[in-house]
Amino acid sequence: MCPYARFQSAMFDKDTMIITYDPERGEPRGPRSRKADPKALGMGDCVDCEICVHVCPTGIDIRKGLQYDCIGCAACIDGCNQVMDRMGYPRGLIRYTTENALAMKLDRPAIVRRVLRPRVLVYTAILLAVTLALFGHWRCVRR
Ligand code: SF4
Ligand code: SF4
Repeated sequence: MCPYARFQSAMFDKDTMIITYDPERGEPRGPRSRKADPKALGMGDCVDCEICVHVCPTGIDIRKGLQYDCIGCAACIDGCNQVMDRMGYPRGLIRYTTENALAMKLDRPAIVRRVLRPRVLVYTAILLAVTLALFGHWRCVRR
């Protein structure tokens, strides 16, 4: 019944910071030995252990892309980073990033520059105004 996820998805665009799986780095997925070189096997970094799915409180497979059920808890990031550590691969196969950053291979400063754009500032101003109005209403009710 909670409209949070749908409300949130209405405010998304391709520069919104989201938790996402990097398919270019992860695919083709599949199990392999810790000593194997994934590049030599023609594989990506995802070992298909499904830990990201098992730790997800809403049962999402983040590898299938952005889904409105995602509550942004980041449990899949932590789970996958532990697997990457055990395999000796770099962390961040699942990470905070944007759709544009993945598509255009943007670095961190470029992501931040695109995240801080007019619509974010407008939403922040609206949220601040609503918060102040509610606070003012609460003070009136208390008197
Ligand atoms: S936890 Fe990481 S390595 Fe394991 S299935 Fe998920 S994305 Fe692949
Ligand atoms: S952020 Fe949380 S809810 Fe979203 S896919 Fe990852 S574990 Fe699931």
